[in-house]
Amino acid sequence: MTTASVVQADDVWKSFGRIDALQGLSLAVPEGSAYAFIGANGAGKTTTIKLLMNMLAPSRGTASVMGVDTRRLSPEVLAQIGYVSENQALPRRLGVGDYLEYLRPFYPGWDRALETSICKRLQLPLKRRIGELSHGMRIKVALACALPYRPKLLILDEPFSGLDPLVREEFMEGLLLEAGDVTMLISSHELGEIESLSTHVGFIDAGRMLIEESMSDLGARLREVRITLEHPAAVPANLPKEWLQPRAFGNVFSFVDTRYSENDLGERIRALLGPVRHIDAEPMPLRTVFTTLARAARDGAIQ
Ligand code: ATP
Repeated sequence: MTTASVVQADDVWKSFGRIDALQGLSLAVPEGSAYAFIGANGAGKTTTIKLLMNMLAPSRGTASVMGVDTRRLSPEVLAQIGYVSENQALPRRLGVGDYLEYLRPFYPGWDRALETSICKRLQLPLKRRIGELSHGMRIKVALACALPYRPKLLILDEPFSGLDPLVREEFMEGLLLEAGDVTMLISSHELGEIESLSTHVGFIDAGRMLIEESMSDLGARLREVRITLEHPAAVPANLPKEWLQPRAFGNVFSFVDTRYSENDLGERIRALLGPVRHIDAEPMPLRTVFTTLARAARDGAIQ
């Protein structure tokens, strides 16, 4: 049985004048997942997220959130989405506490006890005006406004930018507490931070989804392979295309295998490179997965 997608985009294009920010992007965020939406600067993450929140309309293609076309998101649907972005517009003249008070009536499920505990956890100065706060404090305010109504979907665009390490950690702990009940779409360059939380990953490049997979599948098929040969190593001319970043140094040959299979790796290596002394195939942290894929995408090694 396939899990329903809470967020779905099919062949979506978005142009800004002559710039095609999205070029046939497809995306599916399964219900209950924590989806890490990653990609290089300018890849189209924020554009996608704005489109999902109906802050932008697609030039072509469709996207839906909780089964509703993003161009027709009703206040009822929006009331089930928590949205936090690093550049979120907040009313600068209002005090933090006043803004929370203003928001409460819009959300039938607003939980006052949760609001209080979040404000305490984030140490929000309820009496201060939002406009006077630092960038990081404003992100904390946006977060405190998005969680108390227990949204079914949390969309976070660069939520960590400007947050100090302690707040990041506490924020992550808070998110983990929420996890399970909520579907999350998180765009971030802080890959170390989101790795432990994520169940799925979508890697976007130049406005297209290059890889969308569960973390467990991705983790199983990507390996950093390091081979010690019986003789000096050289990069073979007929290198399989799924072996990325080949490097030869002394007797060592290393590469990233994007189709790792324990069963036939040794055999393939011996056939291509000759006698082998030792083979190491290590799982890769998300950060290395990202740099490998980003480099390969840039060099046209994956399309
Ligand atoms: P980053 O990681 O740097 O935040 P991103 O993946 O979020 O990048 P986007 O902000 O979605 O990338 O931008 C994608 C492309 O669309 C970029 O080339 C950007 O310059 C362009 N773009 C985005 N918004 C506009 C706009 N309002 N007008 C013109 N071009 C835009």
